[in-house]
Amino acid sequence: MKVIDIINKAKSTVFSFELLPPLKGNDTSRLYRTIDSLVDFDPKYINITTHRDEVEFKELQDGSIVKRTVRKRPGTVAIAAAIQHKYGIPVVPHILCGGFSKSETEHVLIDLNVLGVENVLALRGDGVKNQHVFLPDPNGHANANELVTQIKDLQKGKYLESDLKNNTPLDFCIGVAGYPEKHFESPNKELDLSFLKQKVDTGADYIVTQMFFNNKVYYDFVEKCREIGITVPIIPGIKPINLKNQLTVLPKLFSIDLPFELASELAKCKNNEEARRVGTEWAILQSKDLVANNAPSLHIYTYGISDNVGEIVKAAF
Ligand code: FAD
Repeated sequence: MKVIDIINKAKSTVFSFELLPPLKGNDTSRLYRTIDSLVDFDPKYINITTHRDEVEFKELQDGSIVKRTVRKRPGTVAIAAAIQHKYGIPVVPHILCGGFSKSETEHVLIDLNVLGVENVLALRGDGVKNQHVFLPDPNGHANANELVTQIKDLQKGKYLESDLKNNTPLDFCIGVAGYPEKHFESPNKELDLSFLKQKVDTGADYIVTQMFFNNKVYYDFVEKCREIGITVPIIPGIKPINLKNQLTVLPKLFSIDLPFELASELAKCKNNEEARRVGTEWAILQSKDLVANNAPSLHIYTYGISDNVGEIVKAAF
């Protein structure tokens, strides 16, 4: 089932959680245990992140340094399909511009269609480490809007090879990312919003936001989107803080602010356990308020740690 249909049919807020594929070399047992612990809370769909190749420099015993390319978490397509078939819950694999050619993207979308996956979250991705700017694959897309265009073209049966004889349309529900506190590269919020509108005008069915810790930031963002004519559902992204160092790591990584009340409570925590309690309580307060204000769905970022997601969902719904 498509996410947009799930949201449109729902009488109240639903929820999804975002999972990371296992690190290369690990099996899927931990991932399945996570899902097992959350299925009773009735997630309506599950997001699966995608990770591009990274370049690493490794020092060998003789002191020389070798450059190697690694993908630490491969397998998004297979994992997404396996989850959907095992649990009967729709999945939303994330699709990236960065590191992928248009042709590779087309093949991923064909595979997903064969596997019965009807949803994707279309993202640009970030530059590789050590690169200050995002550089697209030479045969890939420069931004998420171009990726949405390719997915919409396939919906019309338009493949990259224009002389293809059998152009079966591939129909995906498309989500895109939005940034209530502005994308870190964007010179200002207005320009960032205009590019978000472009993605929606091209065909995105809904928006999922970057994490935020002050709900007013989300409500203001929704208002600004509506003012410029964005009418699609805007799904808030909630990140339960699990570790004490996230007090400084999250603002740095995601260019977001932590409100004084939350930051000062976290700063007082003596260990991760205490920080986790503060983070979980905060996520519960945020989620309850969003549900009370009829947010279409909650997108809960797990970053591989999900054992407090059940507590949050139980308290909020
Ligand atoms: P875009 O929409 O392309 O925007 C990127 C920047 O370019 C913005 O500053 C925008 O204002 C600007 N821009 C947009 N269009 C144009 C244009 N036409 N001309 C000029 N400038 C333009 N990353 C991963 O690697 N894997 C994941 O699984 C993943 N999942 C995510 C899930 C969510 C819900 C969110 C919010 C983010 C996720 N990310 C993920 C991170 C995301 O890839 C980065 O934030 C990335 O830097 C931007 O992606 P985007 O799709 O928003 O890019």
